[in-house]
Order: sequence, then C-alpha cells, then structure tokens
Amino acid sequence: MYDENDAVIGVRTGDKGIDKDGHKKPNFEPGVDLLAKVTVLGEGSRGSLAKQVMARLGLMEGKEPQVFSLGVKELWEVPEGNFAEGMVVHTLGFPSDTRTYGGGWIYGMKNNVVSIGYVTGLDYEDPNIDPHHEFQKYKTHPKVAKILAGGKMIKYGAKTINAGGYYTMPKLYADGVLIVGDSASFLNGQRIKGIHTAMKSGMLAAETIVGAFDHEDFSSKTLKHFEEKVNLSWIYDELHAVRNFHGAFQKGRWSGLINTGLQFLTKGMAWGFMPKEHHLAGHERMQKLGEGTSDSSRYAELKFDKESTFDKVTDVFYGAVAHDEDQPSHLHVLDTEICATRCAEEYDNPCQRFCPAAVYEMETDAVSGRKELKVNFSNCVHCKTCDIADPYQIINWVTPEGGGGPNYKGM
Ligand code: SF4
Repeated sequence: MYDENDAVIGVRTGDKGIDKDGHKKPNFEPGVDLLAKVTVLGEGSRGSLAKQVMARLGLMEGKEPQVFSLGVKELWEVPEGNFAEGMVVHTLGFPSDTRTYGGGWIYGMKNNVVSIGYVTGLDYEDPNIDPHHEFQKYKTHPKVAKILAGGKMIKYGAKTINAGGYYTMPKLYADGVLIVGDSASFLNGQRIKGIHTAMKSGMLAAETIVGAFDHEDFSSKTLKHFEEKVNLSWIYDELHAVRNFHGAFQKGRWSGLINTGLQFLTKGMAWGFMPKEHHLAGHERMQKLGEGTSDSSRYAELKFDKESTFDKVTDVFYGAVAHDEDQPSHLHVLDTEICATRCAEEYDNPCQRFCPAAVYEMETDAVSGRKELKVNFSNCVHCKTCDIADPYQIINWVTPEGGGGPNYKGM
C-alpha cells in the first residue's frame, strides 16, 4: 500500500472466501490493511510484493536485471552404505550442454536419507530445455544411479534462487520500505548460499529502523542508511568478490570456468569473456525455435520408470501439494491469446517445460481445433519459475488463499 506520495505504508492482504468463478462464498472476508512505519520485504526469490515495489518505485533503474536459477530436488532413502551421512558432492555439467548453466548436488543426511537435486540457470537459450527433465537425466548418470540403487524417493520439491548477486541488487530502500535477503539478490551464487546474508541483512534492517524511530523519520533520507550499512558489512565483501561469477557463465561453461579461476586470484575481476553488461535477463536470452542451439530431441532417450526417474505429476504427489480447488487461480496469465498464437509459434509454449509441476498444458479444443492454455494451479509447488522465465512476461504469481502449497517438511 502506498500513500499519495508513493511512500509505502503497509500491506493489504488478499480477500478470503472467493470461489473459482470469482463469487463470494459464505465465509467471505475482505483483506485487511496492515499499516507500518517501515515495511520490510523479505519474500525470498522473486517476491511478489518486491517485484511490484521495484517496478513502481524504479528500484532497478541503473542496475542489471535480476537473474535466477531453478533447483529441482528429491529426498531418497537409500540402503545403508550407499552414501555416508555428512558427505557432500557438487557437480558441474551433465546433463546440461555447455551453453547452459547447470550442476547437481548430493548430500548425505541422517538415517540413510540422501538429498539430491539439480540446478538449471533460468537464463538458458533453448526453449526446449526442461529443468525437471534435466534433473531426471542427472540421476541416470552411472555414478549417481549407483548411489540411489535399491533406494526409494520420499519427497519432491523445486525452488528458484536469485543467482545474479552484487550487480543485480536493487536500490535497497525507498520511503517506508526496505528489501532484504534473496528478494534483494543477496545470495552468493558461487557458493549457492544465502541464508547467512539474508539473516545479516535482516539485522542491518532492524538497526536502521531503530535509528528511524529515534529520528521519527521513515523516509528515504533515514532508510538509505540501510544500503550504507550493507556496503560497509561483510555482505559487500562476500558478494563483491563473486560479482562476475554468474555473468561469466552467460557466455558458456568455458568462459565461466576460466573466469571463476581468475576471480579467485583477483577478488572477482573478469577478463574479456563477459558480455558488455554483466547479466542479461533470463527471459530475454531465450531463443525462438530454430534459432541457435534449439534442440527438440534433447529428452528423446529419457524414460520415466517410476523407480529411479519420475514424470512431473508423480513427483508433485511427493511434494504433498495442497490447494483449495474452489478458489481463483493464483497464476494470473495476463493475455492467453499470446499463448495460443505467438508463443505457440515462436517458442512452442515453454511454460509446459519450464514448470516443474505440470501446471501448464496446451489443450486442443475439440470443436475449433485451436490450442488453449489450461492452468492446473493446484499442482503448483510455488517455485516462481513461470513468473521469471515466461518470454513475454505475462505470468504473474500471486499468493493463493489459505496457506496452500507444497509441504516442504524435512526438505
Ligand atoms: S506454476 Fe509457476 S510457480 Fe507453480 S510450480 Fe509451475 S513454474 Fe513453479
């Protein structure tokens, strides 16, 4: 919520008790206004409120666009001795091609549980790429398959992370508002860690707000001290030293690897391999069908045997996803005509592939023969990929009613 001068004055919650056709149900309750002197936005990757505030108040002006990666993950119970508790394996490459940022992780947890997942940069070029299928292929590598042999999958999930870091940080303050954590690109993309920077940014936001109360001033004049505090803290030191990490991979794996080595020696400087801007928005890098590296046969060999590899719908079952079906979809597609026409021709509707939960389907109408978008919103695992990766930027993820979503206990 904003006042007449565009200062943020709080948050309005959504109306409750609306049916899927938009009518009020007997339990209807209008949203409430939560007013605050300072609103701190820490919604994680691609925050739905942070996205609106950044656009309305121009907080990304003069900055590079935020870029994201998607991690797709399963938990497995494996036979004793397959993988030791505490063991950590990180991999780069297979099955991603050299133009696409991708790598996996395998962590040994308690009680013979293994956390396994694969990260795909959401700045890939080929619209045929499917991050869920990349992960399923990853598990077919003989060394990975050996770890999972004789085990069973027990949980599934997917989540995006802000991968761009220092150069993609928005202006961190405006009148009445601060942005912290992943929403502000504080994740260290080289180490794929951001909890520590999120916590530190929250502490610095709290210090700033105490100062604002001391001066009874909640405008940018006082709240700008938050950005100064961040730049004087170890958050700056850590993120500045890896400022070129993800950008170097936008020129391909070899540029990324050579630059990463050099960055260790030079505290983050990059050599000659970089595009003029360090980061380009992922949706702008997606190429149209037939351009560049587009390859529609990349998953032709992939089979879902439901023992070691799983289709999306089976995986979603293991995400324990629950939404009340009788509510409006929380995935707002702003122009479905584009889906049926331009997007079908230019990209073959990549939402069907980049969504790791089979939410988006193009169905052929029996009468007209025309393809129409169907949104299975109750499958949604809240990863935010669609909001990020859609090449026309016409998908808006908003919070569903009633705390619905995946149950990520133990993940
Ligand atoms: S609909 Fe969007 S947010 Fe939900 S699972 Fe699919 S890509 Fe992720």
